[in-house]
Amino acid sequence: MALERTLSIIKPDAVAKNVIGEIYARFEKAGLKIVAAKMKQLSRKEAEGFYAVHRERPFFKALVDFMISGPVMITALEGENAVLAHRDLMGATNPKEAAPGTIRADFADSIDANAVHGSDAVDTAKVEIAYFFAATDVLSR
Ligand code: ADP
Ligand code: MG
Repeated sequence: MALERTLSIIKPDAVAKNVIGEIYARFEKAGLKIVAAKMKQLSRKEAEGFYAVHRERPFFKALVDFMISGPVMITALEGENAVLAHRDLMGATNPKEAAPGTIRADFADSIDANAVHGSDAVDTAKVEIAYFFAATDVLSR
């Protein structure tokens, strides 16, 4: 087992549905601790930079438009195998394929508006956490 950190974003659809607390409760029950948090209205530039890896994809513009459509809740989570643990809680990218009881199955409406983002590997988690938080804003506990 490895103590890891991952970046979690509650996307504008889930913030609008007022389910931030319900989602955070799932993280806590799974043993993931919030070690940094902020609510933010992303600028187009910030969203494009965050999703730069997808910039050649046909859905890139729609993804960025959606991510700036309202505030998001950004957290760094810490725990044993946090990256995979968090992705298991999220469920598949397309909520139609997400396992019952996952966040996307329960709260997401479509592959565009799919409630949550989670880092896909320890390396990308480091880059993504640093994209939104200064090292001094991540309070390990
Ligand atoms: P995940 O968020 O599960 O890691 P990806 O990294 O592949 O998924 O994609 C990033 C985000 O881009 C997804 O969460 C989703 O909102 C959007 N996306 C991915 N694939 C598609 C698609 N085929 N059509 C529309 N949006 C998509
Ligand atoms: Mg991804």
